[in-house]
Amino acid sequence: MTGHNFTPTALCWLEALLHARFGHNFELIQQAETLILMLPGSEQSICFDQLQSVFHQSRSDFSCQSWKATAEGFVAPIEDKLPAPSETKLPHPLVELKDNCTFIHYDILGLAYWMLTRLEEVGRADLDNHLRFPAISSHAFQHEYLDRPIVDEWLIILGQVIKRVWPQIELKQHKFSIKISHDVDSPSLYGFKPWLTIGRMMAGHLLKRRTLRAFLTAPYVKIGTRKQLHSADPYNTFDWLMDVSEASNLRSSFYFICGRTDPIRDADYEPEHPAIRNLMRSIHERGHDIGLHPSYGTFQKPELIKQEAERLKRICAEEGIKQAEWGGRMHYLRWEQPITLHAWADAGMHYDTTLGYADRPGFRCGTCHEYPAFDPVKQKQMTLKIRPLVVMECTVIDPAYLGLGISQAAEKRMKLLKKRCSLVEGTFSLLWHNSYFKDATCKSIYENILKR
Ligand SMILES: [Zn+2]
Repeated sequence: MTGHNFTPTALCWLEALLHARFGHNFELIQQAETLILMLPGSEQSICFDQLQSVFHQSRSDFSCQSWKATAEGFVAPIEDKLPAPSETKLPHPLVELKDNCTFIHYDILGLAYWMLTRLEEVGRADLDNHLRFPAISSHAFQHEYLDRPIVDEWLIILGQVIKRVWPQIELKQHKFSIKISHDVDSPSLYGFKPWLTIGRMMAGHLLKRRTLRAFLTAPYVKIGTRKQLHSADPYNTFDWLMDVSEASNLRSSFYFICGRTDPIRDADYEPEHPAIRNLMRSIHERGHDIGLHPSYGTFQKPELIKQEAERLKRICAEEGIKQAEWGGRMHYLRWEQPITLHAWADAGMHYDTTLGYADRPGFRCGTCHEYPAFDPVKQKQMTLKIRPLVVMECTVIDPAYLGLGISQAAEKRMKLLKKRCSLVEGTFSLLWHNSYFKDATCKSIYENILKR
């Protein structure tokens, strides 16, 4: 698509977005060079007169400007200077009142459209070794605003303009929340592995690492994993995770792998195993959620995601687990926009929470608020909700990615992102694998991050 105009369906979707943010039915009218925001029954309007064609294109190779909120009497939620992806220099002032129309000379809604629909990454070839669009290819990373929820920041400024234009209306208030989730890649370190592998692991414990305790634990846990996961299993952190969440009044979501499309990268358990069924029942009984973690090779194969979703729902039905909503996250965060998007919707899912980058933490979609998905290729609004992922623990800790290690620096980085979510009253979405508690420090970092 070329030009800088929105299609009628994109305008409808943007109106829905404005309604979700501000609680009012604004109308958007597309004219040749401007987009006009109106409130039915009012003479006043807001005109966006600097529409940008880059926000209707799949590319990251254009410049980024910035805008100082206080210079024009506005209050920015995070930092006074807002990053403003734009091909052209921003005019000053950015917000101007003329007659009955207030002009905003920056394409805030174009930015929201481009970031939220992930149009930037459609059809891209600069992918990583897992065929993912990596953070380092993104405009946000290249212009150092990946750690800023810029769509939320700009919508807060737009809210302040709206209050100037229509002082009599109340805008919807949002409240900060935390959403914690756990991809169950490995529910057990030993329980589901063949004896040959256990033998090799035991040899490693004894000869390489010289830990007699682990040497003895391995066969003990392997034999003891029958109807339930063994209490001595290092990866069986589920009860502890639920304890921590409950202590902070949070609900954890656990996403299970229900297929095997890659012999190495997928899970070693079958979701029908009695110990997994038992785990699912326990999660449900304690009031936490269950969801799907589609296997490695499914992200371009909607029919497989559907099969795996059906398998999970069948097992849950057999265990008497009923949930009002279903969703989850792609294994390895593999995602091709918009194929994977439609796959989730076609699998009957209500939400997806894949969209963060594996290689850098932050705001891949420019927001930490849930929003309805939109396919920028077919120009189709969907009922599927996107819940952006802000932090995956290994993204911050592992040397392959940001590499801060299990350290104060890692904790500080995660807390900074959490703080920024709270400053825009969004949701801090944190993924921490049940199998990723390498030591006591790791556990205490996790607990510290969840503390209010
Ligand atoms: Zn995974």
